[in-house]
Amino acid sequence: MSESIFSKIIAGTIPADKIYEDEFCIAINDIAPQAPVHVLIIPKKPIEKLADAQKDDQALMGHLMLVAGQLSRELGVEEAFRLIVNNGAGAGQTVFHLHLHLVAGKRFEEQAMV
Ligand code: AMP
Repeated sequence: MSESIFSKIIAGTIPADKIYEDEFCIAINDIAPQAPVHVLIIPKKPIEKLADAQKDDQALMGHLMLVAGQLSRELGVEEAFRLIVNNGAGAGQTVFHLHLHLVAGKRFEEQAMV
């Protein structure tokens, strides 16, 4: 796998608006936000897409979810947010390094998933 833009952000070789970092992941504000809150939660491990995650990644996957919840509280959007993972180009994935979109601050259609 060639190095993704997110691996370069994690390595610090290109800048990003980083709002959180720990041993396992970072969170950055999306450069082209689709909502008032649009954060990307990115594991440091360069898994290309969710379908490539393995049993060994179980704790990491859970960690990303817990970080999403923590950030939602810190950002004051814990009552209404969506987590989105685009898996594969056919689903709109453009950066092939797994990431969770945390989107909030807009009115969500109750029935629509997107
Ligand atoms: P996806 O389409 O699910 O792969 O999402 C990739 C996301 O990364 C898009 O929402 C882009 O706006 C965002 N993005 C791409 N480059 C950067 C960057 N340098 N800093 C922050 N967000 C970025």
